[in-house]
Amino acid sequence: MLVVSGLGQRFGDLVALEDFALEVPSGAWVALLGPNGSGKSTALALIAGLLPITAGRVTFDGLVHGASPTDVRVRAAIGVVFQSPSLDPKLSVAENLGLCALIRGLSSTEGAARIAELTAALGVADRMASLVAELSGGLRRRVDLARALLARPSILLLDEPSAGLDESAFRRLWEFLVQSRARDGLTVLVATHRPEEAELCDRIVVIDGGKKVAEDTPDALKRRVSGDLVILESDRLDEVQSILAQTLGLSGRRSADQLVLESEAGHRLVPRLAEALPAGLLRAISVRRPSLADVFVKLTGSSLAA
Ligand code: ADP
Ligand code: MG
Repeated sequence: MLVVSGLGQRFGDLVALEDFALEVPSGAWVALLGPNGSGKSTALALIAGLLPITAGRVTFDGLVHGASPTDVRVRAAIGVVFQSPSLDPKLSVAENLGLCALIRGLSSTEGAARIAELTAALGVADRMASLVAELSGGLRRRVDLARALLARPSILLLDEPSAGLDESAFRRLWEFLVQSRARDGLTVLVATHRPEEAELCDRIVVIDGGKKVAEDTPDALKRRVSGDLVILESDRLDEVQSILAQTLGLSGRRSADQLVLESEAGHRLVPRLAEALPAGLLRAISVRRPSLADVFVKLTGSSLAA
């Protein structure tokens, strides 16, 4: 189990991560969800040992990260797939994976068997002779994942694994992870700004401005926005807002050219809105269930896409 506490990181005056805590029990999948610049990659780099820990503690199965001589064991237990693939573009897929097996101390038979197994499962077995430089982004990500899993790490750290992947590559990647979980009980910590990716995990740690703002299951997080969301679109939102405040005592949240109202029963609110507002003032009105992106806005006041 991975336990992180009081983790902090400064870059000059900038506080990238502050008093950050996290636990990933063995076999669990945890997502770190936050917008660009919120400190996700910094947190993963500290946990992976790619940045020296200057504040806080990272322990893995009770071994303290950064404290030799146990550090080598901690590092061996962690597999990482970061945003820029750690593959040599001038070498073939087979050469990259072979080299990694060697570095990780796998015997040649063990290495060959593991490479064959992973490349088959990831659908890249027919590309062994290709140079990594010639592969598409999706294929490269899969080869990088094979590399990270070669030595059977206890936990896999994934930084924005679906960045640059199209929908089918995204699905393939997660299908593979789900299979690995069923077969090997893979433990995963994934950093992402995509709610639909975070939702595939058991727990979500929401991060903004280097600080944890919430931690819960995807469902429990979604329940933090009550009922339905009623979305009003208009060219005169100020007017809409003041009429609704005066007549119905409602206040909503503005986002771009929309006014978003939380309502226990959206379908009952809609006719009341239509009655209160002069004809022609609204361009559109719609009702939907809250998503994780809405939860993020409610928790932080800003948008995940920002
Ligand atoms: P995320 O992965 O959530 O997008 P990062 O952890 O990459 O966020 O960055 C958090 C903050 O730290 C950002 O403001 C970023 O600009 C800054 N930062 C990250 N790495 C460095 C670095 N090596 N030097 C200076 N600032 C950095
Ligand atoms: Mg990042």
